[in-house]
Amino acid sequence: MDEDATTCSFGLIPSGKPAKKIHHLVKAPENTPGSIRKRESWDADELAVVYTTPERLPSGKFCEATTVIFRTRGCVWWWKSGCTFCGYFNDVRDDVTLENLLSQWEEAKQKTNNFEGSEVIKIYTSGTFFEDRENPPEWQEIILRETHQMGLRLIVEARAEMCTPEKIAWVAERHPGCVVAIGLEALDDEVLKFHCNKGFSTKQWHRAINTLRENNLEVKTYLLFKPPFMSEGDALHHSIEWISKVAPLSDEVSVNPMNIQNNTIVERLFRNSEYRPPWLWSLVEMIRQVHPVPGRLIVHPTAAGRIRGAHNCGECDKNVAAAIERYSVSNDIIEFEGLSCDCEKVWRTEIDLDTSIPIPLGVGLDRRISDEERLMSP
Ligand code: SF4
Ligand SMILES: [Zn+2]
Repeated sequence: MDEDATTCSFGLIPSGKPAKKIHHLVKAPENTPGSIRKRESWDADELAVVYTTPERLPSGKFCEATTVIFRTRGCVWWWKSGCTFCGYFNDVRDDVTLENLLSQWEEAKQKTNNFEGSEVIKIYTSGTFFEDRENPPEWQEIILRETHQMGLRLIVEARAEMCTPEKIAWVAERHPGCVVAIGLEALDDEVLKFHCNKGFSTKQWHRAINTLRENNLEVKTYLLFKPPFMSEGDALHHSIEWISKVAPLSDEVSVNPMNIQNNTIVERLFRNSEYRPPWLWSLVEMIRQVHPVPGRLIVHPTAAGRIRGAHNCGECDKNVAAAIERYSVSNDIIEFEGLSCDCEKVWRTEIDLDTSIPIPLGVGLDRRISDEERLMSP
């Protein structure tokens, strides 16, 4: 028999050769000539981006925050496997050096006149800030010490299992009281494993936040709204439950509604019409049900109103997304007063059906797809 007739084109079914894992398939686009060209097109001495946003301190005071996104070697977990929704690997490269990172830090200071006017600084590295295999410890030390000397409230990101007692004590010594944000995504081990491929457990997250507390560091927890393989109705109900359990253990909870990033498993599902990003109405409903939250609740829908981000019918998206953004700064439920649109009924029906009919992926249809796109989708 012809070999082609007995083999799977994706290589998932073995045919004498070793079988491939799903994440190898998802990583394949990383090594196409186009991806390599894009990866090598940037100058590693230059930052990805630096910008300022309005912010609210734990005291309730309003201020300005600077976000600095570095070009780095990326996340250790991605090197091994990777989360199903994370496309950060598209913008990282494994040849970034200490000199490159120092030059990016100088650029951030120079562009912002040493963060003039900001009281908060968010340092994002597409991975764990204080992981030595990702970022040289000399560079970590400079950022920790300088931001502390400048009196800035520092927020860095980390994976739970990287928050070891030794490393956290080291961080706390160099920048006492800084905030460590952990992408927990879901307070459910099944969702972490099978929906997110997160690579750590809720137990490891509990251990990490205990370590942070013991060192007087602040805890920020990210949750993911609507992981893949989950209906809109389930996403809404799980998120409400997770926020109510996670908030008392965190100083801040930040809910990230799914947005479709390039070359991820979620993008494959999305292209196949097997996943739709959340409704903005679901986020409003989630906030209404959990408010008031101990500490602070931030909901930041990236690409809100676009087909790859949380969206509604197209008519009301701008107003609803703006109200959610305002709530994240004011933490005042009044932001949602008077918001309404005809599409709310469609959303409500979807939630009701998702929670009453046993359809694991939900009943939702594309909200805004054109006839042309519908014909082109596989
Ligand atoms: S989401 Fe975070 S932990 Fe997961 S692959 Fe991306 S950077 Fe790594
Ligand atoms: Zn609408």
